[in-house]
Amino acid sequence: MDSTDLKQAGLKTTLPRLRVLSILENSKVKHLSAEDVYKELLEEKESTSLATVYRVLTQFESAGLVIRHNFEGERAVFELDTEEHHDHMVCVKCGKVIEFFDQRIEIQQDKVAKNHDFFIQDHSLTLYGLCKHCHAKQP
Ligand SMILES: [Zn+2]
Ligand SMILES: [Zn+2]
Repeated sequence: MDSTDLKQAGLKTTLPRLRVLSILENSKVKHLSAEDVYKELLEEKESTSLATVYRVLTQFESAGLVIRHNFEGERAVFELDTEEHHDHMVCVKCGKVIEFFDQRIEIQQDKVAKNHDFFIQDHSLTLYGLCKHCHAKQP
């Protein structure tokens, strides 16, 4: 993604937008809160404010560039919308987010919906629990 993607999404190319976009693309972690993006920008010695980062992320969300997740007990996290469907596991201790995709679950969901005469438009499945590191630290 680059300035072309911003234009296609109907957004003018501005420095903060390009910076935030590049963080989302290049970060090892795919699901970032506004604070995470802000910290990475600071590490790159970019002068910006958390409010700006938040505003840019919200604009990206409206433009369909990113998806916002409001996981339980977590700050909102953002990820680039790759249009590849996946679901999430969230560690309730450290907030780590793991992505997964299981065709059998997808098919089963369709069957269940059909049994209820329900037509799915979208779905999100989130499992809450402990990642292996937090699980290992359990007493
Ligand atoms: Zn954890
Ligand atoms: Zn994801």
